[in-house]
Amino acid sequence: MKALAVFPSIREVRLIDQPEPVIAGPAEVKLRILEAGICGTDREIASFQYGTPPVNSPHLVIGHEALGEVVDVGSGVTGLAPGDLAVLMVRRPCPHDRCVPCRSGRPDFCNTGDFTERGIKGAHGYMTEFVVDDQRYIVKVPKELREVAVLLEPLTVAEKAGEQVRILAQRLPGHLRVDPSNLRAVVIGAGPIGLLGAMKLMGAKFDTSVYYRGKADSPNVKIVSAIGARFISSVEHPPAELAKMLGEISLVYEATGVVKISFDVLSVLGVNGVYIFTGVPGVKAPIEMDAERIMRNLVLKNQVLCGTVNAGRASFEEGVQDLRSFMQRFPAAVRALITARMTLDDARDAVLAKGGIKSVIKVA
Ligand SMILES: [Zn+2]
Ligand SMILES: [Zn+2]
Repeated sequence: MKALAVFPSIREVRLIDQPEPVIAGPAEVKLRILEAGICGTDREIASFQYGTPPVNSPHLVIGHEALGEVVDVGSGVTGLAPGDLAVLMVRRPCPHDRCVPCRSGRPDFCNTGDFTERGIKGAHGYMTEFVVDDQRYIVKVPKELREVAVLLEPLTVAEKAGEQVRILAQRLPGHLRVDPSNLRAVVIGAGPIGLLGAMKLMGAKFDTSVYYRGKADSPNVKIVSAIGARFISSVEHPPAELAKMLGEISLVYEATGVVKISFDVLSVLGVNGVYIFTGVPGVKAPIEMDAERIMRNLVLKNQVLCGTVNAGRASFEEGVQDLRSFMQRFPAAVRALITARMTLDDARDAVLAKGGIKSVIKVA
């Protein structure tokens, strides 16, 4: 079967032929991959800045955002049957007994760093025709979500952020009585992670603004408007103005990985505010930022900074529910996130190209 592989040592990206995987244990499930999404991580791996092949393999099959159809199940599999649609999780636990998060089913909080990630770190990914994995890492999705379920994995970034925000909100007296529509949330960036985050915030009834450098007539901003969120141009309005326009900012969801703008917005976070970082910037030269004001505010305004990576199974399951409700509320906006569909034969060009919101490889 075909697969898109990155060979870091010889700096090559190409389609390879590899044996079809087979079910080897009672808990395993075999999926035919239907679609695989492309994101910035894949582009970084394909430009050799990131990514690690499995031990003893010269190459890494990439792809970590996949929708598949179950074609076969092991004798011990429950809740999944041939014909079901499903999305695969990304991270797998480290082998160490001392790692409580991994032993508790939360490798997204692995504290040894020896986790693997399919398509990213130490394990082959999903930009291929068939995949076999343990049922623990496979999440069933309803058939009605067939055309957009490939967005579930990127949506889990917002779902885990939501989980973290709920935990952090518990520090505030009376948090259960707060009406989110009185709280202002700002999303920085309007790529797929930012737009899915904005959909999640709109679903949770926050007063949501998307702060983005693109133009008002860009397809990204059209999605912001379609879901009922407010667009604020970061080119026209510097962060200090953003705060004046909105008033107290309670929640920031950073989805750009651009350091300067992210810390400039941090400096205008409001009282008891929570700031969630999801972007992964490259390590470049130090930049200037308003560190005194930021530190002063962190203390005097009880602020919390929280980074989040990957997601647990509960976030995938919550994502399925949210994706279903997004499709009821603003189906055209969800569909508009996918701006191109290419075949596996064109996957190399698609991964190396830029542009659009979300490109998807249509495998079957
Ligand atoms: Zn991704
Ligand atoms: Zn671990």
